[in-house]
Amino acid sequence: MKSARLLFAVALAASCQAQQMDWNKIDAEGLHHLQALVQIDSSNGMETRVVEYVKKALDAEGIPSIIVAKDPNRANLIARIKGNGSKKPLLIMGHSDTVKVDPAKWINFGPFSGTLSGGYIYGRGVIDDKSDLFAAMMTTILLKRTGVKLDRDVIFVSESGEEGASGFGIGYLVSEHWPQIEPGVCLAEAGGVTRRGSRAVFATIETTEKVPRGARLVATGVSGHGSRPMRSNAIVHLSRAVEKIAMWDPPMRLNDTTRTYFEKLAQISEPAEAQRFRDLLNPAKSAEAREYFAEHEPAFYSMLHTSISPNIIQGGYQTNVIPSEATATLDIRALPDEDMNAFYALMKNVINDPAVQVVPGGRAERPIPPPSSITSEEYHALEGAFQKVYNVPVLPLMQTGATDMAQVRAKGVPCYGIGPMVDEEDGPRGFGIHSDQERLLEEAAYKHLRLFWEAVTAIAAAR
Ligand SMILES: [Zn+2]
Repeated sequence: MKSARLLFAVALAASCQAQQMDWNKIDAEGLHHLQALVQIDSSNGMETRVVEYVKKALDAEGIPSIIVAKDPNRANLIARIKGNGSKKPLLIMGHSDTVKVDPAKWINFGPFSGTLSGGYIYGRGVIDDKSDLFAAMMTTILLKRTGVKLDRDVIFVSESGEEGASGFGIGYLVSEHWPQIEPGVCLAEAGGVTRRGSRAVFATIETTEKVPRGARLVATGVSGHGSRPMRSNAIVHLSRAVEKIAMWDPPMRLNDTTRTYFEKLAQISEPAEAQRFRDLLNPAKSAEAREYFAEHEPAFYSMLHTSISPNIIQGGYQTNVIPSEATATLDIRALPDEDMNAFYALMKNVINDPAVQVVPGGRAERPIPPPSSITSEEYHALEGAFQKVYNVPVLPLMQTGATDMAQVRAKGVPCYGIGPMVDEEDGPRGFGIHSDQERLLEEAAYKHLRLFWEAVTAIAAAR
């Protein structure tokens, strides 16, 4: 109760502060920064261009920042707003790189135009992740301007290399610059708000994620002449094994985050869907519900267990030669608490073929941190911020993909992933992240900036 009262007091102090702020002006300024950031092409590395822009904006406010880089073209920026030090810092991160583009596919607006049209801002990275970048940068600027008293430093990082080159970004920052960024809690990408029929319906806070693991299936057989088919053909054995492993329903296991996620989702879903979420926990009906999700809702299905997707298959080199080996490369996404050796043993049992071996490896081993708490003061502060800005239920989320938060969580720091509001149907229509028409609702840009401000002040403002 004590902490609830304190949280309320902090929220009140921050909202008094917010009342003195001219949000129309701030929104216009934020939009300008977001468009400018999208207009900087950082799709092939070259994040230093973004860092130069950010540094200039911070310099203009008298906010000192440092640039640190493993590669001079792929720099990171660190800025710090000082608090009274009674709590460990809050780290807010946005990544400055984007995935690549195929310019020919951007038929309406160029990939780096940042065009505002029909209530949307278009461009590569406008959601992923320049939305977080501009909101974190603007929040840093607003903290400086308003002089809000802070119990903890707020550290803002513009981070490079998130899209598959984390050695330049978070990997480098954690290994070479940890003392400059070491926080007590961190905020980064990966949660967000789902909008359906022009209304926000729920928000998610990412508290944990699945862990990428690699393995190959290697089938071996006797090579020979293609005119005399053999039952020992490696391709035949591999094909059977691939089918068995892909159709396998691995043991289901929920954690605090996924259990709460499905419970809360059941409360806000249509009756049939809600029943399926509840059925997951009913031994008599769980298998049927899982099969439905496997067929229709692959994201939900993936959250239930360590998953396997066979994504590369290789074997043979000439039509009339039976090959002696064939391999399949698997994308395995492990639950955060998975015992991989035990899991590989289960896979071997499922395949049940001495001609096919499960060979782990082939993928960089990432740290496996425990999930961040969904009962911490910071988590509740974030929930409060989402409710205040969007007035919707807030669900903890286990991401099926991987983010840079894993490396910070692995240092024992709780990390929470947040993000802007997107239309549920926008992704399937080709406007989602990494798509050829990535776009963000203009309204979502403003709301995201407000959310960042509310979240940061709720977590860091002095009590
Ligand atoms: Zn991203």
